[in-house]
Amino acid sequence: MSSETIGKHPIPAGFEDALIKPADYDRMYAESINEPEAFWGREGKRLDWIEPYTKVKNTNFAFGDVSIKWFEDGVLNASVNCIDRHLETRADQTAIIFEPDDPKDAAQHITYAQLSENVNRMANVLLSQGIMRGDRVVIYLPMIPEAAYAMLACARIGAIHSIVFAGFSPDALANRVNDSGAKVVITADTAPRGGRRTNLKSNADAALLHCSDKVRCLVVKHTGDQTTWIEGRDIDVKEQMKHVSPDCPPRPMNAEDPLFVLYTSGSTGKPKGVVHTTGGYLVYAAMTHQYVFDYKDGDIFWCTADVGWVTGHSYIIYGPLANGATTLMFEGVPTYPDAGRFWEVCAKHKVNQFYTAPTAIRALMGKGTEFVEKHDLSSLRILGTVGEPINPEAWNWYNDNVGKGRCPIVDTWWQTETGGHLITPLPGATETKPGSATVPFFGIKPAVLDPNSADLIEGNGVEGVLCIADSWPGQMRTVWGDHQRFMETYFQQYPGYYFTGDGCRRDQDGYYWITGRVDDVINVSGHRMGTAEVESALVAHEKVAEAAVVGYPHSVKGQGIYAYVTLMNGVEPSEDLRAELEKWVRSEIGPIAKPDLIQWAPGMPKTRSGKIMRRILRKIAENDYGALGDTSTLAEPEVVDELIANRMNRG
Ligand code: ATP
Ligand code: MG
Repeated sequence: MSSETIGKHPIPAGFEDALIKPADYDRMYAESINEPEAFWGREGKRLDWIEPYTKVKNTNFAFGDVSIKWFEDGVLNASVNCIDRHLETRADQTAIIFEPDDPKDAAQHITYAQLSENVNRMANVLLSQGIMRGDRVVIYLPMIPEAAYAMLACARIGAIHSIVFAGFSPDALANRVNDSGAKVVITADTAPRGGRRTNLKSNADAALLHCSDKVRCLVVKHTGDQTTWIEGRDIDVKEQMKHVSPDCPPRPMNAEDPLFVLYTSGSTGKPKGVVHTTGGYLVYAAMTHQYVFDYKDGDIFWCTADVGWVTGHSYIIYGPLANGATTLMFEGVPTYPDAGRFWEVCAKHKVNQFYTAPTAIRALMGKGTEFVEKHDLSSLRILGTVGEPINPEAWNWYNDNVGKGRCPIVDTWWQTETGGHLITPLPGATETKPGSATVPFFGIKPAVLDPNSADLIEGNGVEGVLCIADSWPGQMRTVWGDHQRFMETYFQQYPGYYFTGDGCRRDQDGYYWITGRVDDVINVSGHRMGTAEVESALVAHEKVAEAAVVGYPHSVKGQGIYAYVTLMNGVEPSEDLRAELEKWVRSEIGPIAKPDLIQWAPGMPKTRSGKIMRRILRKIAENDYGALGDTSTLAEPEVVDELIANRMNRG
């Protein structure tokens, strides 16, 4: 049975009064495409502007001339939109719930009034360090409230933040400090995670050895652990915050002034410094947060991503706070103290919207349902996923055990580059299909192109490369310091389009299915195949925990199918199991998809955000493991050595 013929899941009962109903979606989508100026001119008003814009859209996708501007003569401040404008009505409402790593430590409820004071004070500390409008500030912090304060403090004074995930090495940190030309790094003493502590300060010290000696280090004393201290360079942020004024006037910023630079995950190559600007990004983050999660006043929203990823930027901080929401920040990991932690936190804080990644769902699925059943999940209304295609197996598990069939699942397809969701269901408007990101969000014109001719493929039941035909406000504006790389990466190969790098299928109902990275599409005896489909079939087998599929040169077929398979805990590899898996894939998809080689993989090379780095697996499968490319964002480099040692293709 192909995935397209699986029946649609209807919209569950109770969504009749959702913000967007089916007829609203049709009407608003049509308007957003036919009259973008009118549509976005109205949506832009969801923000407070110091000077209202008179121009809405000014964008050009022509290679050599790419330029993207939205609301270009508008003036605003992002921190005012996330804080000040809510104070009149929400001063005592919780803005951020902070859930610490150790469940025995008390959660904090930070009101909008407290958020305001902390952000203003931190902004004044930055000013006292000579940070000015346009200066870059690298934030290397764990998931603690100070990370939110630091982001919004930068926004308040017009500095550009660049967050580096706290799990990154000193090298990765140094590269980003140098590439962005940052004047300060904001870090913490130590970071508790899963019951262990990482010494962030010593990582920052090691990184700063490779940076200009003018770079200052602002240290948040979070745990109070003893760390090194370099007089004259290191500054105790919390101490300084006590001595500065609780008022810092917001800097009026142009809509097109950069808000932040964020490096991509590095799944497919050297990370790119993605630049997002103030007006368009914030409109888009706020709007998608509201509609995609059907966010209503009083809801408790939880996105489990780290603020080091774009998901954390748009759906922990900017989107929710622009909407006056209550957003949860979690310091810990899904499996500490046990595999029920997510569900325990949902029950404890009565979370209404829960947003996580397929990799987390698959990991928790392997631990059994008893961890879910222990907790009262009746507050949940909407579930979301992001980051990778979700295999139907994991989708169904999430739907049945966490959502109990009552909660729409929004499988949101988007990228660091896109600022917010581009293809996604809306809870009250879209029937879902497990594994499909479904339909475009307002203003998004997906285009399926032929990878060889670059021609547009029209109609349904087609497959190709996913491009976007026109701009939207949340789109990245450039690669930091390298507009040429921006144009070459996204606008050269398919003239007139934004090229996403992903492959997709548009089924008979017009639903989109992401088939994986374009580089991961394989061609077996003339049949083009997305690796995601073969992986999804393998993972559907009860003994398989995880699978990654790549192509390798094959003398007869052109490309052969090379599968890396991680087995469930306690399952031993054997030749019988290998034959069983081959047979399984044949019956699930067809003979053409049968793996030629299966390598047992105790672990997969993953980015720190949990995505499999197939480019490394491809090199190993090709028996060309000498030059693996940029591995700075790899979570556990040891895994790679093991895979090389046991590679199946030595030809
Ligand atoms: P790099 O660009 O450095 O290689 P990356 O692409 O992993 O890294 P992100 O911007 O974090 O960096 O991820 C975006 C990509 O994640 C998308 O292009 C897509 O391949 C994948 N993705 C995200 N959400 C989904 C989803 N819901 N379904 C399928 N794929 C998704
Ligand atoms: Mg990418």
